[in-house]
Amino acid sequence: MRLVFATGNRGKLAEAQEILGLDYELVTPADLGLDDDIEETGSTLAENSLIKASAIYDASGLDCFADDTGLEVDCLGGAPGVYTARYAGPHCNFDDNMEKLLAEMAKAGGPRTARFRCVVTLIRGGEVRQFDGCLEGKIALHREGRQGFGYDPVFIPREYPDHTLAEISASQKNAISHRGAALRLMAKYLMAE
Ligand code: IMP
Repeated sequence: MRLVFATGNRGKLAEAQEILGLDYELVTPADLGLDDDIEETGSTLAENSLIKASAIYDASGLDCFADDTGLEVDCLGGAPGVYTARYAGPHCNFDDNMEKLLAEMAKAGGPRTARFRCVVTLIRGGEVRQFDGCLEGKIALHREGRQGFGYDPVFIPREYPDHTLAEISASQKNAISHRGAALRLMAKYLMAE
């Protein structure tokens, strides 16, 4: 089955392909000559995930899915949440975001517990379904590791208390991650059809 994954992130594409297996041919908007720079104007992860999936479904007419992830940090009252991608400003990169996060947490003090939440939206034959995934953990005091992307170097998952996500392998991360959990629910739903 051919599915469009509404992402420009090749790392996420590889993760999703590994989880969904070879029965699914995943293509990206870029593979179809479509723009994947969709403005996330929603106020929740579910809304933003739906905005991305709907934009690609409307433009391609093909079955597709999109994900949206937020990092919730307890001592920051759940921030950066829906602003996770652009926490340090509109043109920030992953380093800027981690720097801001560590600085804000040093100011706030308190528990370093945190979680990634992910909502995957599938649109298939015009029908919309959403799947949630969560990864519990805590924020490290310093960056450690070089793998992965985003906030991986500062996120210590509960399952590997001595390592950040950037220090474990891609398949170890896939097996526990927020996006992995949501994508596995989607795969289960698709396979039951
Ligand atoms: P997105 O909208 O799903 O791409 O996620 C928003 C932001 O969350 C990204 O720009 C990353 O900074 C962060 N993020 C999403 N997934 C991960 C992950 O698996 N590890 C670390 N950071 C992530």
